[in-house]
Amino acid sequence: MTDTISFSQEVSNLLYAAEGEPLRTCIQCGTCSGTCPVAGYMDYTPRQIIALINAGNKEQVLESNTFWYCASCYHCTVRCPQKINITELMYALKRYSIWKGQHKEGLIGPTFSEAFVKMIVRGGRSFEPVLAPSYIFSLNLREMLQEVTNATELLLKGRLPVLPARIKRIDSFKRMIGRIIPMGGLE
Ligand code: SF4
Ligand code: SF4
Repeated sequence: MTDTISFSQEVSNLLYAAEGEPLRTCIQCGTCSGTCPVAGYMDYTPRQIIALINAGNKEQVLESNTFWYCASCYHCTVRCPQKINITELMYALKRYSIWKGQHKEGLIGPTFSEAFVKMIVRGGRSFEPVLAPSYIFSLNLREMLQEVTNATELLLKGRLPVLPARIKRIDSFKRMIGRIIPMGGLE
């Protein structure tokens, strides 16, 4: 007989230092949604996303923008009466979504995150010109020109490197990262 685990358990397994299924202890009080500064832009509020996870509605969760819009402000986490780490849940859903290659169309977050993680895994440092293509084409012309102007000013002031830097002992770094996240397709 094949063991299958619930979506809630799968997500709980991705939460750092979590025991059991913390999301199951949610009492649906709505404190997290009420305190979230970006709830108005989310397809589902934090309270709703937890209800959907507990109901096993994986497709609906992965196709939502909720976790990609999370600003990691921790307001929800410090106020949750059940001490559920909702911010960490949002990070876990991002990782899960990238891992499964499933996310809502048209969002900047997934492409940007993937480009960022690949860049860090390969060189150990951030290099903005590699990240720019992951979001710049979704901007309108005025915003695009503003980005180019900002980048030029930073370059002229020596705040933007011309060439990417690479840390020493990159292989050790990759081995360390490989213990935390699946490396398939990242190297
Ligand atoms: S604040 Fe905590 S208990 Fe209340 S709805 Fe949000 S996650 Fe659930
Ligand atoms: S951490 Fe994310 S989900 Fe929680 S209140 Fe802040 S923006 Fe909203």
